[in-house]
Amino acid sequence: APRGLFLSFEGIDGSGKSTQARMLADRLRDQGHDVVLTREPGGSPGAEEIRALVLQGDPDRWSAETEILLFTAARRDHLERTIRPALDRGAVVICDRFADSTRMYQGMSRGDLRKTVDDLHDLMIGVEPDLTLLIDMDPDRGLARAKSRQTIEERFEDFGAALQHKMRAGFLGLAGEFPGRYRIVDGDDTPENVADRVADVVAGHLPAIA
Ligand code: ADP
Ligand code: MG
Repeated sequence: APRGLFLSFEGIDGSGKSTQARMLADRLRDQGHDVVLTREPGGSPGAEEIRALVLQGDPDRWSAETEILLFTAARRDHLERTIRPALDRGAVVICDRFADSTRMYQGMSRGDLRKTVDDLHDLMIGVEPDLTLLIDMDPDRGLARAKSRQTIEERFEDFGAALQHKMRAGFLGLAGEFPGRYRIVDGDDTPENVADRVADVVAGHLPAIA
């Protein structure tokens, strides 16, 4: 059976993940690839419902542990309904955030819950991307970009500088934990130049065009 390519974008708020995920999807589609551009939390109808449950309304509605359970449930649905079917038909799946964002934000920002995230991941998900593109940049510049973004759509995108710095260090630490799949891309450049670097990273990994 054909097996596609599973790519994720990770990095701090404002680093350009969503911008680069879109630009890569456009570029690969232009080349004739079957591309599924998706995101977390969300990415399937059920997971988008869970996203709304968690990200809208009172930030204290869910405990840190319950939030991890909800995000893991959302990821399981996303995997079953969107990611696996696409990979099984040989598509390139581009995911704007995946489990590493949960490892960082749910695992580090409301206490040390990384083991809980990892245990649930092993039990219910068990899949990692083939390649994870870490868009790395200065945390304060990322924050300034995020704040200038036109729509602040979710509470996880309204961080203070201290958390931005902690998350930047955390993502670089993850890249060291998973050296096989992580590729660090300097995001402090024009969108077009970053997109060229991203394209170089994925070039040798793409499935054959059908
Ligand atoms: P993320 O998804 O990582 O939070 P976005 O892709 O939403 O980041 O980008 C955050 C903001 O910065 C957006 O307003 C976007 O248009 C802008 N932006 C993205 N990439 C760049 C770049 N390379 N240079 C300058 N601004 C950028
Ligand atoms: Mg984004």
